[in-house]
Amino acid sequence: MTTTSDTAVSNTAVSRGRRVLEHLCETIGPRWAGTPAEHAAAEFLAEELRDLGLQVTKTPVRYIGWEPLEGSFLHVWAPERLDVPICPYYYSAPTRANPVSGWLQPAGRAVMGLYEGRDADAVGPPAAPGGPEKFAIIGFRDDVVGYVVCGGLEIPRPGGFTQYADPVVLAGKALTDRIAIWGAAGTPVGVRLHVAARYRPDAVSYNVIGELPGESSRCLILGAHYDSLYHTPGAFDNGSGVMALIEAAEALAGRRLPLTVRFCLFGAEELDFQGSRHYVLSLKERGELAQVAAMVNLDAVGNPAGERRRFHNFRVTDDALGGLVEEALQQFRVAERYGWEEVLSPFPWRRVLYSRGSDYCFFAQEGVPAISCGANGAIHGHTPEDTIENMDPGVSALKGQMAAWMVEQLAARLAP
Ligand SMILES: [Zn+2]
Repeated sequence: MTTTSDTAVSNTAVSRGRRVLEHLCETIGPRWAGTPAEHAAAEFLAEELRDLGLQVTKTPVRYIGWEPLEGSFLHVWAPERLDVPICPYYYSAPTRANPVSGWLQPAGRAVMGLYEGRDADAVGPPAAPGGPEKFAIIGFRDDVVGYVVCGGLEIPRPGGFTQYADPVVLAGKALTDRIAIWGAAGTPVGVRLHVAARYRPDAVSYNVIGELPGESSRCLILGAHYDSLYHTPGAFDNGSGVMALIEAAEALAGRRLPLTVRFCLFGAEELDFQGSRHYVLSLKERGELAQVAAMVNLDAVGNPAGERRRFHNFRVTDDALGGLVEEALQQFRVAERYGWEEVLSPFPWRRVLYSRGSDYCFFAQEGVPAISCGANGAIHGHTPEDTIENMDPGVSALKGQMAAWMVEQLAARLAP
């Protein structure tokens, strides 16, 4: 993309990060992994990093892709007729018959992944899964023809990690509420399900990496994913993290730190972390993972407008990094600016190891010390309402400054 410098000239009062946020969310829009829009975002961001004087690489990430198509539905036909809003899980198979029909049978509780809820300090067996109720659809030949997970929202948000390659959908609260009533009476529930989706064996995304060479080739990684779900402009998740990363890169560009810094814009995070998974695996295969001193991840770091809590959420892999986060919060007077009641209580950091929340997870699993900067519980996250109007870019800019400061501190403290 070559028009960015014109934009910069006409918008001199707007920060680079803010301009990048607007281009991603408003000019490009939804950036689902493997689509031309995601590729346009990658090229645009590569240009931005080059413009900051960084050494930029754009690495293709090939994976077995998946995308939803128009026309999925769930219709209840017994004990009464009801159309339920649904979202196919990622990697849900399309229904083979068109549609499938059968009776719901309890199938336990849906879990996000095998490590869900497992803390680094945990001892003993993991707790029983506490996810939403899941039902198999038993077809008229007594075979499982699909799955329905009962969600807690009127309009469910697309979600789910790789589970089974069966047709599986998340259903709206209407079904959850009825099933609570019907189930108590022992009433059989008959449904018809159609899932329109396809696998894309030729899918490709890109990791865009800008390197700031330091005195040592040992490096720090500052990461943020630039893709979004297929139906949302993805401002908070994760235009806000990209904005913060760009502002941090701008603050550090031209410096020579004791460690090398890699600004990593990962693709396909929303599709089971394909971008960062590929990056960590390839570092490991080349024997370069030991060169990574620490990773700082920015995902969903703008305060959702109207949401008074939970926007300073940090998680770390060790106490030293937790101490650094505390110092950063003090350095940027977060308590005075926002009030401690705005900060998660208990103190806003806990261990991230085994948590599958964002691109830090494969680094943490491989033993790389990691800091996760990001908010949970965004009211608009993963919905079409995740727009710039519904977030606070000021908080995103602050997170960019904090990230630059933490990277600088880490470079000094972890230098060989
Ligand atoms: Zn995200």
